[in-house]
Amino acid sequence: MRVGIGYDVHKLVEGRKLILGGVHIEYDKGLLGHSDADVLIHAIMDSMLGALALGDIGKHFPDNDVKYKGISSMKLLRKVNELIHDRGYRVNNIDSIIVAQEPKIAPYIEEMRSNISSILNIPVDDISIKATTTERLGFEGRKEGISAHSICTLCKK
Ligand SMILES: [Zn+2]
Repeated sequence: MRVGIGYDVHKLVEGRKLILGGVHIEYDKGLLGHSDADVLIHAIMDSMLGALALGDIGKHFPDNDVKYKGISSMKLLRKVNELIHDRGYRVNNIDSIIVAQEPKIAPYIEEMRSNISSILNIPVDDISIKATTTERLGFEGRKEGISAHSICTLCKK
């Protein structure tokens, strides 16, 4: 069994779509980034890579590479999953937290879990996504950005 941790932050700006867990969420701002800036999926990928000491997503998908400009992070998640499988492991379970003052995340969580479940080909029950505010404290509380944390365990296939 291997354990990995992931953390990511993206800035909220006008004129971008808000994509979290592969779900388009109606909001007047979106996250800024080279890809679709899906902060949850980025944290999850980093936890998967971290579990096998494979570095982080910046190493595997450089943000100066035009190949990854505007790319759906779900496609990158598929690639990370292949990497894990190539090394003889599969995801056992994931626990994650989205930290955002706004918008309300809860109505979208089931769809996010189902998206991730179909990419990783593991049961929805092995994927936990939680959401919290910071009681208006810090950059998330001021709605300047959204952060995400993830822990995952991998086991041998
Ligand atoms: Zn990111």
